[in-house]
Amino acid sequence: MLDVERIREDFPILHQQVNGRPLVYLDNAATTQKPRQVIDALVRYYETDNANIHRGIHALAVRATEQYEGVRAKVAAHIGAANPSDVVFTRNTTESINLVARAWGDANLRPGDEVVLSIMEHHSNIIPWQQLAKRTGAVLRYVDITGEGELAIDQLRAIIGPRTKLVTIVHMSNVLGTINPVGDIAEMAHAAGALVLVDGAQSAPHLPIDVRSLGCDFFAFSAHKMLGPTGVGVLWARPGLLESMDPFLGGGEMISIVRPEESTWAEVPHKFEAGTPNIADVIAFGAALDYLGGIGMANVRRHEEHLAGYAIDALRSIEGLKVHGPLDPERRGGAVSFSVPGVHPHDVSTIVDSYGVAIRAGHHCAQLLMRRLQVPATNRASLYIYNREQEIDALVEALHEATRIFARADSRTAVR
Ligand code: PMP
Repeated sequence: MLDVERIREDFPILHQQVNGRPLVYLDNAATTQKPRQVIDALVRYYETDNANIHRGIHALAVRATEQYEGVRAKVAAHIGAANPSDVVFTRNTTESINLVARAWGDANLRPGDEVVLSIMEHHSNIIPWQQLAKRTGAVLRYVDITGEGELAIDQLRAIIGPRTKLVTIVHMSNVLGTINPVGDIAEMAHAAGALVLVDGAQSAPHLPIDVRSLGCDFFAFSAHKMLGPTGVGVLWARPGLLESMDPFLGGGEMISIVRPEESTWAEVPHKFEAGTPNIADVIAFGAALDYLGGIGMANVRRHEEHLAGYAIDALRSIEGLKVHGPLDPERRGGAVSFSVPGVHPHDVSTIVDSYGVAIRAGHHCAQLLMRRLQVPATNRASLYIYNREQEIDALVEALHEATRIFARADSRTAVR
């Protein structure tokens, strides 16, 4: 079990009142809070080491470069990658996926080729493929979910065929919490000669990740959802793949020799990091990885599995409340979406906020999934290492109040 009270001491933002109550932050699937260690790393870098990287030979430039490249090695170690050079820093998961769609997709897809994805994808794993389909004439094939909110794996098996060039799938749904069997999916896709991209935006922060045992070809995630700063994303690619791809963006840093008409590219991963990167935030992301490494990702997972189970049971004690997605915490993560009967999700969030509890309401950038669930929006509580059972209790108390307020409003309307 995690020493949650000890962990909470590292997060300055958690020690505040919101609307007269202690802040309960349950919006971690959107972005997580940052420990003092990450904030300090950011300040330390600007106070002592700030310089542009790679080009300079003065002391500060060398220090900044070493730290930046050191984080690349930390990322590789964190996800079980063999080579730091297979790790590209981007702005976020969205940019990582767009990089693959442009740099790999444009060169490899022909009219009639198929990209397989699921209806539980985040828009950032849908729109780049729609744009790619428009450019190349490729076709998108969507896999449905089951009634329990899991991927319809038999349908996926049936859809994958000789025309499939890419299967692109979310590892852990940001709405349903569902953990998809990406290892099995990679086997199926590879047997058909297709590549596999895993959207790890919600899995990298919460599960131990080993890209080699997952067997995928691309793995994308964001630092800001795992204690790191905003503005840093990661794209990992199977060894050799990045070398075979043309650059996504052109400019400084990504070239080898520039001639008037044509140029040659730098070695990977620099070929994919045009211009001055987000040096400070990458370096502070290193502190986030150290922090998570100190806790251990297996312990993070254990904590969240327990807390997700507690949250699901507590939420379902509210009459009529529907939890979307698998109910078994072993099969899911800590993003728990739900619908409260008779109360619009935005009203739920507003009332809950008046109790100091931060949850999300909306379509969660998953409109295809909302349509499939036949709801305009849901509420979502999402957990992390600093959350406690008593915070779930505070949420449930606030939800009871929301249902009481709306029941009273309903009865008044009925009398009139
Ligand atoms: N995929 C999933 C599953 C997500 O939850 C998110 C963030 N909500 C993204 C992709 C996009 O991440 P970012 O906004 O950091 O690019």
